[in-house]
Amino acid sequence: MNHVLRNFFLSLFSLFFVITCLEHLDPTAKAQTSRQRAAKPSNAQLGDRKVERRVDELLRQMTLTEKIGQLVQYSATEAASTKPGGASTVALNVNPPSPNGVDSFKLATSGRLGSMLNTVGQEITNHFQHAAVDHTRLHIPLLFGADVIHGFRTIFPVPLGTAASWDPDLISALAHMAAVEARTAGVNWFYSPMVDIARDARWGRCTEGAGEDPYLGAAIARAYIRGYQGDDLSAPGSVAACVKHFAAYGAAEAGREYNTTDMSEIQLRQVFLPPYKAGVEAGTATVMSAFNALNGIPASANPFLLQAVLRDEWSFNGPVVSDYTAVMELTHHGIALDASSATAKALNAGVDIDMMSHFYDAELPGLIKSGAVSMATVDEAVRRVLRLKFALGLFEHPFTTGPEVTNAVQEHRPLARRAAEESFVLLKNTPAESPLLPLPSNKKIALIGPLADDAPDMVGAWSGANNFGDVITLRAALAQHAQQSGSTLTYAKGTEISGDSEAGFQEALDAAQSADVVVLALGESSAMSGEAASRAHLDLPGNQQRLLETIVAGGKPVVLLVFSGRPLVLNWAASHVPAIMEVWFPGVETGPAIVQTLFGDVSPSGKLTMSFPRAVGQEPLYYSQLPTGRPEQFPDPEHPGFVETKYVSKYLDVPNDALFPFGHGLSYTSFAYSNVKASAPTISVSTLMRDQKAHLLNASATVTNIGHRRGTEIVQCYVRILGASVEQPVRSLKGFTRITLDPGETKSVQFPLGFEELSFLNSAKRPVLEPADYTIWIGGSSTADQSAHFKTVAAMP
Ligand code: BGC
Repeated sequence: MNHVLRNFFLSLFSLFFVITCLEHLDPTAKAQTSRQRAAKPSNAQLGDRKVERRVDELLRQMTLTEKIGQLVQYSATEAASTKPGGASTVALNVNPPSPNGVDSFKLATSGRLGSMLNTVGQEITNHFQHAAVDHTRLHIPLLFGADVIHGFRTIFPVPLGTAASWDPDLISALAHMAAVEARTAGVNWFYSPMVDIARDARWGRCTEGAGEDPYLGAAIARAYIRGYQGDDLSAPGSVAACVKHFAAYGAAEAGREYNTTDMSEIQLRQVFLPPYKAGVEAGTATVMSAFNALNGIPASANPFLLQAVLRDEWSFNGPVVSDYTAVMELTHHGIALDASSATAKALNAGVDIDMMSHFYDAELPGLIKSGAVSMATVDEAVRRVLRLKFALGLFEHPFTTGPEVTNAVQEHRPLARRAAEESFVLLKNTPAESPLLPLPSNKKIALIGPLADDAPDMVGAWSGANNFGDVITLRAALAQHAQQSGSTLTYAKGTEISGDSEAGFQEALDAAQSADVVVLALGESSAMSGEAASRAHLDLPGNQQRLLETIVAGGKPVVLLVFSGRPLVLNWAASHVPAIMEVWFPGVETGPAIVQTLFGDVSPSGKLTMSFPRAVGQEPLYYSQLPTGRPEQFPDPEHPGFVETKYVSKYLDVPNDALFPFGHGLSYTSFAYSNVKASAPTISVSTLMRDQKAHLLNASATVTNIGHRRGTEIVQCYVRILGASVEQPVRSLKGFTRITLDPGETKSVQFPLGFEELSFLNSAKRPVLEPADYTIWIGGSSTADQSAHFKTVAAMP
């Protein structure tokens, strides 16, 4: 053995020896070494050695009470003295009342509070920060987390709406804008993005996410993290992000909020985990554990999720915060008998911060004494919190100064408006030969419906610290447009969002009769989606459907604008109303964005990211279904010409497919697709496996604007794998891009494909490639019909 080799083996042996000894000598060493071992920490700033030295030094000085304090999070609701004058100011009122009456101000002054939630505004955050920094022995600043989900003061569309833009750069810019505003009000941590895949429209929280698809969900998760954190957590416009709710919260059984989830590990990994993983890989500073149980183990006490997947596989190095009272709820789940066992299960599984339960502060001292929780586990959790505080620069700049943003910001409105415009999805526009939209500007318009002039309901669920007065309603914007264009506008509310009085119907009908065209603004209230807002019926609430039918029966052409936080069942409208546009909850620029679109200054470009069902009974409904042995229609090889339609997987009363499928969305122009191709007929599995980052194959198509207007198309690429050892979805999205074309213009689009896009999980849950047949489709929705084929082969011929 030569010298070099001998020295190498000697050093390897010594390293192994030192690690082994350390682990035996000091119980904290295990955590230390596992920290050092993590291949590449998910967030480089949290893994910085200088930060680690500061953490070491601080941790050495901390008492047990001070350490536990870092793991405790409360709101200001019960604080006796939240402001110098004693009055309590809590700007984000999005949670249930505080369940335990803990005085968070007292805790802050005695070093027993690490972070706060939904306490926003310079005055109140500085007040608490002074308590923590000036009055405690070690002067450790607080983190201020808040549910800023789609804007702080300048509210832009709900996330399901912005997702319909399929525009990650736009989403990053919006996220950054929200961060800039919230920082002025003392907030340094957002409980966002919510990246839960949602395939069941009954679940109200689908409004907070990007919809049903993991590939798109992952791209959007990355976009939010980029926008919130930039490349420096301590930069003035950055906040720490929080990927939530880990994991699979969106799979709640029957779409019922907080309900249990149960699924195979392949489904979990292939469908639900990718957006969380993408968020971690993009460097999210924090993760929130979910309320739901996954396969019988609550996510907030789930070592498989929180340790094996999050820490060991993904090397996540930030803190995990529980959802609101999720640690306490372990007793309701029935896996903890009392506060003490709930605390031990949550912390030992990997929940570092206890949001609102009042369990960690009450129970940890006893648990450490009894040995049920080790000091090393507590220390590691505290380290994660301190690293974040150092990385955010809070020790240097704990207080917020400078002008505070207290209203929608004028300069931010153009971006909020663009977001609204890009979020709208034109579901239907007929008649084909002369579609109703866009409207000429000289028409007499009747604006009807409970959402036409309803500022509070324009901001959707989780509307930050908005002021309703900042919203420009559709009625206000249309009135202004009518004034400028010399046309006339009549308005009638018609009915309420919920309720059954028809008292307003006649006035609405009269308004419709005297107009050339009716714009009907119908849908849900903000409160009908978001948290605790599951619905078993997905139709227009109250008697809005009756109002719609009454107005349509009047015979005037109707444009239906649907305001909702989820897909609704719109069958009747789809067969009786000439033009339908889904506008979600568009935010402060609702009115101007809709007016620009109605009159054609902007052509709609949004595409659905959740399938719109024909009936609630189809839910969960998603395009990327696994195949069945008896598809809806299949030829019988024994009897040529015969198509089996009875003993097949279908409903007797509705077709299987969506009324408006994933990826669907029209424009004021049309696009034609041709030349869908794969760059090679075969590719070897080993080549793809060898370089898993390389894109060795291209799918391409030619797209032409065949209409008369400039327009933006979201081009989508779908893949199907046939012949693999595990059955694969009938289609999966593997690429998308936005292109803008002038009339007559043609562009070629390319989708690079490699291991990431073409692999799947085998029965051992490992991502693999096998010899198989691939079909690719490129088009403007998940029902794209132009395809090409290629094969993966064991060895090239
Ligand atoms: C929600 C979270 C939210 C938290 C704090 C919980 O009820 O599930 O999404 O971040 O409250 O407000």
